[in-house]
Amino acid sequence: MELIRRLFRRAPPRIPGRLWAEALDSMPCLARLQDGDLRRLQALTERFLAEHAISGAGGFAVTDEIALRIAAQACLPVLNLTLDLYRDMAGVIVYPSAFIVRHSEVDEAGVVHEWEAPMAGEALDAGGAVVLSWEDALEDHEWDDGSNLVIHEFVHKIDMGSGGANGCPPFLAEFHQGIDPARWTRVFTAAYEDFRRRVDAMERRLPADFDEDDDEHLDRYAELAQGLPMDPYGAENPAEFFAVASEAFFVQPAALAAAYGQVVELLEQYYLQKALRAD
Ligand SMILES: [Zn+2]
Repeated sequence: MELIRRLFRRAPPRIPGRLWAEALDSMPCLARLQDGDLRRLQALTERFLAEHAISGAGGFAVTDEIALRIAAQACLPVLNLTLDLYRDMAGVIVYPSAFIVRHSEVDEAGVVHEWEAPMAGEALDAGGAVVLSWEDALEDHEWDDGSNLVIHEFVHKIDMGSGGANGCPPFLAEFHQGIDPARWTRVFTAAYEDFRRRVDAMERRLPADFDEDDDEHLDRYAELAQGLPMDPYGAENPAEFFAVASEAFFVQPAALAAAYGQVVELLEQYYLQKALRAD
């Protein structure tokens, strides 16, 4: 069925030139791409928009401009790979701002803990959607500080293609023959452990009574975090390390490349893109 559907699917709608040009101008993460790459990104984005629904939630209306920006960023990591990496996805859901997610966890004593927390983005496993807060996605474009929520969540989706998000994405026969999975695990595990040590050392320099509602404390945190090769959230677990390293790879790779050259080398082999623009 799938093949027949593909054969008879009409060509995806073309993105009007003015809309595409405006989208490119608004996203610093696409500035390093050369003209040929941008044309391929546009064609891939058109296919993405034809294949995946991007819908609003919490009263949010997704405009063409917003859908286009999300789709273009989602397509950046798979520009030289395949959209099939997003086949297992029930669309994209966009909230106006951070959304509340109910979490539950069973502790070692078997007690179930439940809590609610605001989230900027979430990639749901097992065929689920990618959920985004547009306010947070937009901040990444305005501040250009190396983070990119949309890329982050879609990288989780890629990672989930091989047995859940664990920091080891699926290696595809067509693209990744040159990657030794054992080396991937070795390099990423060593870098993750090192990064955790760096984040621990940074946190020891924070005020002992650190309060995340205190602006001075937050400024101090931001100042110390700038000394790290990437967002400290990458120390959370191997899946977050892979997602945060990928964000840095696509947006501001210099510090990551200086600290973890072998990670950047493997990400170049995985995404089949150069981290630093060759000019
Ligand atoms: Zn994440």
